[in-house]
Amino acid sequence: MVEYLFKTLVIGDIGVGKTSLIKRYVHHVFGSTYKPTIGVDFALKVINWDSETIIRLQLWDIAGQERFGTMTRVYYRDAVAAFIVFVLDINRNTTFEGVRKWKDDLDSKVMLADGSKIPCFLLANKIDMLEESEIDAKKAQLDDFVAEKEFAGWFPTSAKENKNIDRAASELIRTIIDNE
Ligand code: GDP
Ligand code: MG
Repeated sequence: MVEYLFKTLVIGDIGVGKTSLIKRYVHHVFGSTYKPTIGVDFALKVINWDSETIIRLQLWDIAGQERFGTMTRVYYRDAVAAFIVFVLDINRNTTFEGVRKWKDDLDSKVMLADGSKIPCFLLANKIDMLEESEIDAKKAQLDDFVAEKEFAGWFPTSAKENKNIDRAASELIRTIIDNE
């Protein structure tokens, strides 16, 4: 039996649903109000990946530090992958402004042992608030942006309706394992 411990980060602007995604994934719950915690929260998900592999996935939630738009190197240290969360605004031309800032911060402060960027998936959360056609209309733009900023991929997610979270996490883990 092989057991891995992976430190992963969940970052993004305040209110996009980071804590909700983690709670949904790890504790299988969704609530509309949470006590705002200040500092860093951890959640641990233990996954029986295959018959000989156990993954202990540590998810770091930035809990109240988002307003600074950056995190310290100490926070990023030893992370092997990340999610950046945002909410698609279909009423405005999508600039990905907040996402760019987080991706640049991440890439400037942490890297893999070989010097390459840590894999990072972009999560467009709260898709339960959009029509399917509205998401479709943004797909090409998201694909381009993800390629430009060297994300490993993107997923439309909903913490509220439990959409694509397990899928995104599995993809993240697969990418981490490929890097091992
Ligand atoms: P954080 O600041 O990024 O950690 O965001 P929270 O997880 O605290 O969520 C902020 C607000 O968005 C809360 O009122 C959540 O209930 C709501 N929220 C989070 N995820 C979703 C989602 O997938 N769909 C909808 N409709 N609301 C969500
Ligand atoms: Mg939070």
